[in-house]
Amino acid sequence: MSKVYIGGKLYDKADAKISVFDHGLLYGDGVFEGIRVYSGKVFRLPEHIDRLYDSARAIHLEIPLSREQMAEAVVSTVRANGKKDGYIRLVVTRGAGTLGLDPRKTSDPQVIIIVDDIALYPQELYDNGLEIVTAATIRNHPNAVNPRIKSLNYLNNILAKIEGIRAGCLEALMLNHKGEVAECTGDNVFVVKHGILRTPPTDAGILEGVTRNAVLELARAAGIPAQEMTLTRHDVYTADECFLTGTAAEVIPVVKCDGRPIGNGKPGPVTRQLRERFQQLVRQ
Ligand code: PMP
Repeated sequence: MSKVYIGGKLYDKADAKISVFDHGLLYGDGVFEGIRVYSGKVFRLPEHIDRLYDSARAIHLEIPLSREQMAEAVVSTVRANGKKDGYIRLVVTRGAGTLGLDPRKTSDPQVIIIVDDIALYPQELYDNGLEIVTAATIRNHPNAVNPRIKSLNYLNNILAKIEGIRAGCLEALMLNHKGEVAECTGDNVFVVKHGILRTPPTDAGILEGVTRNAVLELARAAGIPAQEMTLTRHDVYTADECFLTGTAAEVIPVVKCDGRPIGNGKPGPVTRQLRERFQQLVRQ
């Protein structure tokens, strides 16, 4: 039976409960992280904790633990679950309050840590590549809810995901308010053109993915030129290769976008190389 951490205590899954008055539930008022455990080691925990605290700061939420205490809580919950390979969901809600938006009328932000398995895309898609479509729903305007905040309000992404699913695709490409490529609903996007790796910059209205940053580092270390630059759908359609990155997805090739085959319609060599290097990195 898996053990869930809530506010410093471990509960059996069936007993892991929080209040229906929690503003995380009522308004999506809170922040979260999705983190991997590989061979018993939490992947890039400091980076995930930094992003969690940045997200919290941006929504004016004070997390009732220091970063060190949070890291310790994550590691000890993983240990209590005896998981060598798995997925951690770290959630901080605003806490229970009165009905009404006012965050001052809440108390006790809830820190929740779930350790579980992760449902990957089927292996076939890693071998042969994924097809995506562009969603009509644009990514949140940075002056509304900044996509750099990993907030509990994921409706923007869910609406785009529904469009993808309705079009028979497991991921959907999201543009920003300027019509530029931002990211997918739960993954960052990369293209390769003439041997150069490109991904939208953080100010394109994206979540700055931990996997994205790891892949940029791996590319630079491997001598693959890498640029963070504005991309349009044209750049995706005319790319030699395209792939997505995310904690759950890792590195997955994209071979079709809006019905257009990308490159020769098969996962490309740069994608394969970076996927392999990423596998090596996480197994280190
Ligand atoms: N973009 C969005 C919208 C996400 O939700 C995620 C994480 N699931 C990512 C990108 C990838 O980020 P990371 O590599 O840190 O998982």
